[in-house]
Amino acid sequence: METPTSQASDDPREIVVHNVLKAADRLGLDSEMRTLLNMPFREVRVEIPLRMDNGSLRVFVGYRVQHSGVRGPAKGGIRYHPSTGLNEVRALAAAMTWKTSLVNLPFGGAKGGINVDPKELSITELQRLTRGYIRRIHLLLGPYRDVPAPDMNTNAQVMTWIFDEYSAHHGYTPACVTGKPVELGGSLGREAATGRGVFCVTEALLQDLRLPMAGARVAIQGFGNVGSFAARFFAEAGAIVIAVSDVIGGVFNPLGLDVRALLEHVRATHSVSRFAAGKAISNEDLLAVDCDILIPAALQCVITKENAPKVRARVIAEAANLPTTPEADEILTRRGVHILPDVLTNAGGVTVSYFEWAQNLQQVFWEEERVNTDMHKILTRAYRQVAEMASMGKISLREAAYTIAVDRVARAERLRGT
Ligand code: NAD
Repeated sequence: METPTSQASDDPREIVVHNVLKAADRLGLDSEMRTLLNMPFREVRVEIPLRMDNGSLRVFVGYRVQHSGVRGPAKGGIRYHPSTGLNEVRALAAAMTWKTSLVNLPFGGAKGGINVDPKELSITELQRLTRGYIRRIHLLLGPYRDVPAPDMNTNAQVMTWIFDEYSAHHGYTPACVTGKPVELGGSLGREAATGRGVFCVTEALLQDLRLPMAGARVAIQGFGNVGSFAARFFAEAGAIVIAVSDVIGGVFNPLGLDVRALLEHVRATHSVSRFAAGKAISNEDLLAVDCDILIPAALQCVITKENAPKVRARVIAEAANLPTTPEADEILTRRGVHILPDVLTNAGGVTVSYFEWAQNLQQVFWEEERVNTDMHKILTRAYRQVAEMASMGKISLREAAYTIAVDRVARAERLRGT
């Protein structure tokens, strides 16, 4: 693999490399360290044959990339998506390294995925596919090696199959994966953690900007785990959720959507589209809605140089990983839009995954209140460090976040003499 350059593009890996190299410039890191920081530690591609329910055979491709383990076991989600490929997984694995470093958890970064549309599979096919994937990579996983978690289109059920398959090879090992159901060692508060973290960091920024949460108009792209929990927390705090969307389409009501009724509608129809109390809106239009807070909570690379000039939000809280390209970032920053970077904004999930891992290793169970309070403490402390560096250095929140994160990993690399 060639040494990456900081050329900006819509490629998710170039987004993360661009941000790391900018931080490296600020930190005065030499070219050897830059290469080390951007190269993945290990990349695996596996073929997973799956016997379908109708007797035919299909072969899927799975990936696991461990970007860094210098500060602790690699940590990162597993995504099932038809467009998942090595480059995307590489980018997301690297983003995990910077996220765990920024919030100062004892983890590195990893990501995995299978190139599959899970909606095309039955539940038994999905279970066989997950087990087949884990059978091929289990030697690379483990509580002190690499700990997966949920991401797009994976959930507590998928994590259970991972836990069960891993334990079949290595003995009972709940700490081998996080995001499990509470009955099997999952942590209270994990399911809502990423959405709660998005809210908590946005609230801290609004306080600094002296903008009220009550009445703030919020638009959310993606209404899965992260987007739907974020909607709940913002609505509970008096913000008005005016637009939401998912892979099928979106819905908009300038007077506000009833989040509770919307959640019921999604439970019944599996989509936000066709929600009666709003007008249909496309995903592209959602990004341009007149709102105070825009929350991308679906895929990477959705805010680009083409649509950035149309964004009307004053604050963008990046719940998805790598949603903003460097060109869009520059356009929006120049226009004075406050962007809460993904490595901070969506770190609530990995923070509570850390609590789950720690509880599993000690075989103890925390009260939900402790989980939520400790997560809030960790995220607001990280926010404060980022905000102070940004204000003192007159740099963006993203530049500050990456500078702190890259500095920690570079120090660890030097100390370990890698
Ligand atoms: P999810 O599968 O639960 O939900 C994804 C949502 O995005 C769904 O509503 C889906 O319909 C929608 N979506 C998919 N493709 C879309 C498209 N092309 N346009 C618009 N909407 C689309 O996934 P999730 O766990 O909520 O993850 C969402 C994002 O948050 C991802 O970028 C993920 O990496 C990131 N993230 C998740 C966690 C976590 O704990 N789950 C933690 C950190 C970051």
